[in-house]
Amino acid sequence: MKKTLICTVCPNGCEIEVNYTTREDAVITGYTCKRGIPYAIDECFEPKRTFTSSVKITGTDRRMLPVRTTGPIPKELLMKAAEAVAAITLEVPVKCGDVIVENFLDTDVKLVAAMSL
Ligand code: SF4
Repeated sequence: MKKTLICTVCPNGCEIEVNYTTREDAVITGYTCKRGIPYAIDECFEPKRTFTSSVKITGTDRRMLPVRTTGPIPKELLMKAAEAVAAITLEVPVKCGDVIVENFLDTDVKLVAAMSL
């Protein structure tokens, strides 16, 4: 299999090509620095994204509070993450960085408030 990716680790945006049948035999070309290698491997075999969304909040004029994960979570969990935050309702006051869920979807990543209200 052949995959072409744009590395998003830094603004250079190198075009990386990965030829592989398994993780072990992957041949990676096009990266300018070594940080592109784990990025390309993760993108092919274990893609992850930082999750951002909003949750309901009461006690203020605003109806929603922006939230985000403190790190990337598996891309396959993004729909489940959206369902999980839809079930959360907070009450003011909330400070930016407050932990809303400690171990979000068992990923060892926290879900935190992205704004103070
Ligand atoms: S391969 Fe290195 S230089 Fe190229 S975009 Fe990725 S991190 Fe930046």
